Amino acid sequence: MYDVLFAPSRGKYAGGEKPKVSCLFCAIRDHDPRVWTREIYRDEGALVIMNIFPYSPGHIQVLPSRHVEEPEELSDDEFIHALDFVQRGILLVKKVMKPDGLHLGVNLGKAGASIQHLHFQIVPRYKKAVEDDQERIHKWYLKNTDVFKKGTLRKKKKTRSCRCFSQQRYVFKKDPFVYLSPNPYNRGHVVISPAKHVTDIEELSPQEFLDLFKEVTKVKKSIERVYNPVGINIGVNIGEVPNSSNHLQIHVVPRYDPESGFMEVIGNTRVVVESLDQSFGKLIRYLS
Ligand SMILES: [Zn+2]
Ligand SMILES: [Zn+2]
Repeated sequence: MYDVLFAPSRGKYAGGEKPKVSCLFCAIRDHDPRVWTREIYRDEGALVIMNIFPYSPGHIQVLPSRHVEEPEELSDDEFIHALDFVQRGILLVKKVMKPDGLHLGVNLGKAGASIQHLHFQIVPRYKKAVEDDQERIHKWYLKNTDVFKKGTLRKKKKTRSCRCFSQQRYVFKKDPFVYLSPNPYNRGHVVISPAKHVTDIEELSPQEFLDLFKEVTKVKKSIERVYNPVGINIGVNIGEVPNSSNHLQIHVVPRYDPESGFMEVIGNTRVVVESLDQSFGKLIRYLS
């Protein structure tokens, strides 16, 4: 079901060498001398940096310049700008690192977010081992920042309808397609997909991406009302990575505390203590 991503470079970070600033990302934005980073690109609205404690070589982060903790705090303009940088960030990672696949993710609350300033993680995945030579990767990234400038071509595909989700039973709505995951990672795991057949995030126009993410925000708020989780993970799997799909899916997974047990660690098996009927019944009044 899920594989293990071994990220030894994160040990130093987890071990606690953190600068004493109230928000690391605001400090980076303000060029605070107490912090350093490998910055890739910025404008007045957003910032793109390398994660210097990466999950995998070439892991980057996109953040809105303004300190917000939840996606719904962003104005539409700020949101579109951040999502545009996310799309361009994915293009940059694909171009420079040529990964086999990648994950796009957002951790909210106590669900893996050690920095509360909203940020999007772009994590490349490789079949073969890739050396984490950050200095060299940073140079490559800096040579390709033209992807962030206006006018870079997007992948334009003919839109087509599809029947990818026709088998789903627990459907809240159809445009965008919102349904309960049939293989939930946790109770209340909801999936959002564009109604038209889209495989890659860069096929979405900025407005389409915004509309989709607004639905994500709505799902997130509904999950918070129904389940009161300690945090929420938002994630997209692209290309050849575990659980990726040919039709773009945004997963919204609530996290509860405590939740890990021996079945997860030893058995690679999540134990979900609620039926899909129960989850659907709880969420439907907020999501239909
Ligand atoms: Zn901040
Ligand atoms: Zn499809």
